[in-house]
Amino acid sequence: MKILVIGSSNTDMVIQAPRLPARGETILGGQFVMNPGGKGANQAVAATRLGGKVRLLTKVGDDLFGQQTISRLKNEGILTDYVLIDSRYPSGVALITVDEGGENTIVVASGANMALGEKEILVLMNPIEQATIILLQLEIPLQTVELAAKTASNLGKTVILNPAPAYPLSDSLLSKISILTPNQTEAQMLTGIKVNSPETADLAAQHLHKKGVANVIITLGKEGAYLCNEQTTQLIPGYPVEAVDTTAAGDTFNGALAVALLEGKELIEAISFANLAASLSVTRLGAQSSIPYRYELEC
Ligand code: ATP
Repeated sequence: MKILVIGSSNTDMVIQAPRLPARGETILGGQFVMNPGGKGANQAVAATRLGGKVRLLTKVGDDLFGQQTISRLKNEGILTDYVLIDSRYPSGVALITVDEGGENTIVVASGANMALGEKEILVLMNPIEQATIILLQLEIPLQTVELAAKTASNLGKTVILNPAPAYPLSDSLLSKISILTPNQTEAQMLTGIKVNSPETADLAAQHLHKKGVANVIITLGKEGAYLCNEQTTQLIPGYPVEAVDTTAAGDTFNGALAVALLEGKELIEAISFANLAASLSVTRLGAQSSIPYRYELEC
């Protein structure tokens, strides 16, 4: 396996409602749908659909949601031999209410995701050794991310960290990261610099680069992504599209970036490929349902 994703898997339970309920209120909603989600699973799906050989290291509970997650991942072609089942916890779920204007409230019960502990990573050196690129996010315990990054970096692997959801990170973790991919909110959380333009992205990216991150890529929505490394600081422009739902744009970007790098593309070309894949995802509704397949990028 060339790409190892270590991260979360969830089941998103979505109810559409005329409006969001007030505190203590019960309202009648409309349609109910259940979708697979979690940043780890989303990024694994993106990398697989875009042509990567992917293994997902995640944890689910011993329940129906966990079984469904495993069978969906298998159907996508993701290697699931390191999807761990922990009977002490339920599988992760997100309860989402969406109103008519597209506003939402989300509560995540991480369940088994937060039991993906250091101990397992130590036991599971094998998948890290077998991979070329390790792709991490922050929906599992931070200590696990830190240990995985350290182990992978010591083995000379390319470590991509998508620091989502926004959370402060130690300089010691940042120094182990080959490629850090915050969005604007996450870049602000990590640097204290408000990022809302290529100019402010430049300031934030330089700040993170000075802390020891080899390559900083700040994603800037429809503008594209801003790259800062030893060789260059530049905006790699996005692709203009009619956006309908940006859910999973960041996940598609990260999965695509990993695949492009694995294929030997230079970083700038890889970012452009990731921009293209993510731009397609925003033209469609949903999370995993919006992630494109490789042939769609080649049309
Ligand atoms: P999300 O949390 O919605 O999944 P994000 O906030 O993590 O996304 P963004 O910076 O919004 O990340 O978007 C990631 C990438 O998706 C961008 O770098 C860009 O390539 C693409 N993208 C996002 N929005 C648009 C858009 N409106 N038009 C074209 N491309 C877009």
